[in-house]
Amino acid sequence: MPKKKVKKVVNKENIRHDGRKLSELRPIKLEVGILGNADGSAYIEQGKNKILAGVYGPKEVHPKHLALPDRSRLRCRYHMAPFSVQERKSPAPSRRDIELSKVIREAFEPSVFTEYYPKTSIDIFIEVLQADGGTRCASITAASLALADAGIPLRDLVSACAAGKVDGRIVLDLNDKEDKEGEADLPLAYMSNLNAITLLQMDGMLTSEEFEQAINLALEGCNQIYQLQKEALKAKYVEVKETMNEGADEQ
Ligand code: UDP
Repeated sequence: MPKKKVKKVVNKENIRHDGRKLSELRPIKLEVGILGNADGSAYIEQGKNKILAGVYGPKEVHPKHLALPDRSRLRCRYHMAPFSVQERKSPAPSRRDIELSKVIREAFEPSVFTEYYPKTSIDIFIEVLQADGGTRCASITAASLALADAGIPLRDLVSACAAGKVDGRIVLDLNDKEDKEGEADLPLAYMSNLNAITLLQMDGMLTSEEFEQAINLALEGCNQIYQLQKEALKAKYVEVKETMNEGADEQ
């Protein structure tokens, strides 16, 4: 019997199965300040990922014994909605949710001036509404914007993006299919202005040259996302200014 031909995720012309070039990000949409009752919020669409981030705080810590005398306690909850993936996900926090909550918190923690708010907590809630690979990175990008929207002083915005290896090629911003069928995945979070990496993980195998290439590609992706984050923040304030001007005209 003839052997069945397996369709490659990246073709001979270096075009990926979703039409992207090797070093191309998925389309990204960012919105800031979309939840009326949170202190800060942001929404991200990155390819088919749809993620909401809401921030509460700085506020009094509950339970009180968790208060830190010299800084604010940052807490983060990453949660995937039951309908966010193809097979229904239990609404209860999974081991993966708990791990990602910690990893995401540690990625934006270096950017926050927590010492300005001793004995308080800053809580970040991340709801993944639809997942298609790279949700930890998209969550970090959205959480950082939500923190800025809450008016919390930051050393820099944190932008995150993965690079990896698929069908022998180093590619940027892997989607679910590429993540599952590829050889390696390297999520990275970065403060562009400070030139500091705040998260670096790796799943799979890469040679040292490929590793360096993947890091450089992920950094390039983060720089592009950083520009989009700044535009999204500015867009919110242009909107606020226009609303205020309209109010003044009516008086
Ligand atoms: N995923 C899934 N079911 C799960 C968890 C994850 O289908 O219970 C998918 C989802 O699309 C996710 C992808 O697998 O984005 C990769 O998950 P991973 O743990 O590598 O984290 P991520 O790449 O989302 O940061």
